[in-house]
Amino acid sequence: MLYSELADYYSRIESTTKRLEMTSILVEMLKKADKNEVAAISYLTLGKLYPDFSGIEMGLGEKLVAKAISRAAGSKPKEIDDLYEKAGDLGLVAEEVLKRKSAQLLFQPKPPTVLEIYSILDKISRSSGGGAQDEKLAWLSGLLSGLTPNGAKYLVRTVMGKLRLGVADMTILDALADLYADGDRTLIERAYNLTSDIGMVAEALAREGLEAMKNLKPTPGKPIRPMLAERLQSPEEVMEKLGGTLALEYKYDGERCQAHIIKGEVVLFSRRLENITPQFPDVIDAVAKYVRAKAAIVEGEIVGVDPNTGELMPFQQLMHRRRKYGVEEALEEIPTNIFLFDVMYLDGEDLTNVPYLDRRKRLEEIVDCSGSVKLATRSIISNIQSFEKFFEEAISDGCEGVMAKDITTASVYQAGARGWLWIKYKRDYKSELADTVDLAIVGAFNGRGKRAGTYGALLLAAYDKASDEFCTVCKLGSGFSDEELFSLPKKLSDALVKEKPARVNSLIKPDIWFEPKYVIEVKGAEITLSPVHTAAFGKIKDAAGLAIRFPRATGKWRTDKSPEDSTTTQELVEMYQSQLKKIT
Ligand code: AMP
Repeated sequence: MLYSELADYYSRIESTTKRLEMTSILVEMLKKADKNEVAAISYLTLGKLYPDFSGIEMGLGEKLVAKAISRAAGSKPKEIDDLYEKAGDLGLVAEEVLKRKSAQLLFQPKPPTVLEIYSILDKISRSSGGGAQDEKLAWLSGLLSGLTPNGAKYLVRTVMGKLRLGVADMTILDALADLYADGDRTLIERAYNLTSDIGMVAEALAREGLEAMKNLKPTPGKPIRPMLAERLQSPEEVMEKLGGTLALEYKYDGERCQAHIIKGEVVLFSRRLENITPQFPDVIDAVAKYVRAKAAIVEGEIVGVDPNTGELMPFQQLMHRRRKYGVEEALEEIPTNIFLFDVMYLDGEDLTNVPYLDRRKRLEEIVDCSGSVKLATRSIISNIQSFEKFFEEAISDGCEGVMAKDITTASVYQAGARGWLWIKYKRDYKSELADTVDLAIVGAFNGRGKRAGTYGALLLAAYDKASDEFCTVCKLGSGFSDEELFSLPKKLSDALVKEKPARVNSLIKPDIWFEPKYVIEVKGAEITLSPVHTAAFGKIKDAAGLAIRFPRATGKWRTDKSPEDSTTTQELVEMYQSQLKKIT
């Protein structure tokens, strides 16, 4: 197909306002295309050269494109600038000046085909380094001078990343379904969901028809569109929906990540299918080391771990610090763990049609959990009490809630679909407790890395009036200025003791103990149940105390308060209960 013919289809697409008509023009266009052209045509029609996940974009700058137009049409740069100012679209400018030029030509040059154009655009998008700008200019002006004015208009918009015909991947899928499957999108859409590559799907259909869709497997290197979860408001509803017995997994508050292993190399994709490999060199190394597979696609959640407290961090905090420090420094500051929860492809085998329990088993077989790659904590549950217990553990371990998963034989991996095979249940809490709390410092942990020489975190306690004890509620490592942080050892030195003070009730053993003396103001996200903290232990639930989640120092030292004036465990119980009332 000549590029100018393609451009004529684009004109028709642009002039229609009806979705159905747009699809039928696409059908006509794809029918006309040769087998080896359909992939290129599909990408070009979406204004791209490759699928989105490749991360390669054309986006040539205005200046370069204007120069190429002026060179191709033999018009003065000033003339191009003036026209551009009027029209606001270099595509229209190219059309206008080339119209004038072609009226003067005796012989029209040989018009380029779609594939010729595609291959030069491919070169343009890959060219980089010294001399690249001149090379791009020469290629583009060469292309423009061979095109019809209408063809030049669309080519200019394409190279600037501004084609915008209003065609989306789904519109092309519809057209392909009309052309090859009597309008039934099921198989074609599945192939697309498994590969996210519209060009590859279109070409496979053109070459081998619908049969090719049945054989299409996930391909390491091409992201699978993620399976999504529905949401319900109570454990009872979740249990009923999933038939009474189900798998519960921790719902980690991190960044969803698909890790592809291809011949020992690891590539990471985000939930939106962007290639995020450069952002997580630590995850790459960990997956390469701890996932035993030659070729695999696994999925999990990347979560930041506070190096001072060992606790999981809320994801915004990891992102925020990454922005502040850049990748290299953040690596040292915040180690990450990846918690894997699924495997969709393993050494040549498509596992997307395999039920959840078998996929999980396969995942367990290939993951070595001794490093920073972990398996999502999981339990099979068949009553409400175990559901609630698991949920509380998830929250106290720093998760957002739980993900309930169907365990029947129907529980396939539904790429690109939101369905009832996965149901999320999280507790929506306000991101901050309305009140601050004042807590006594009873211990500290030695700092590492940037905090070497001072404390990484403090161990804080609330006061239990009834037993006259200080019961731990959290480790505090955030909210300090550097100056304050490094002044801590000196400031607290007169409270230092060798052994745990008798009135301190703690299951945690810090590096340093303090006699309760100093009181510090803390702001937290919420109060959660915790098996490791002793405040109000057993009061709300057996074998669990209360903890403050994501504590931050406000900067205020309550020198006006004695340790016995700290927030009491009774107050924490009241805060926990009023928080529950707000949620339900
Ligand atoms: P939401 O973003 O609230 O719609 O919740 C769905 C997200 O939870 C998924 O996209 C994952 O990023 C994340 N997630 C965390 N833990 C799990 C898990 N164990 N299984 C599935 N998804 C999880």
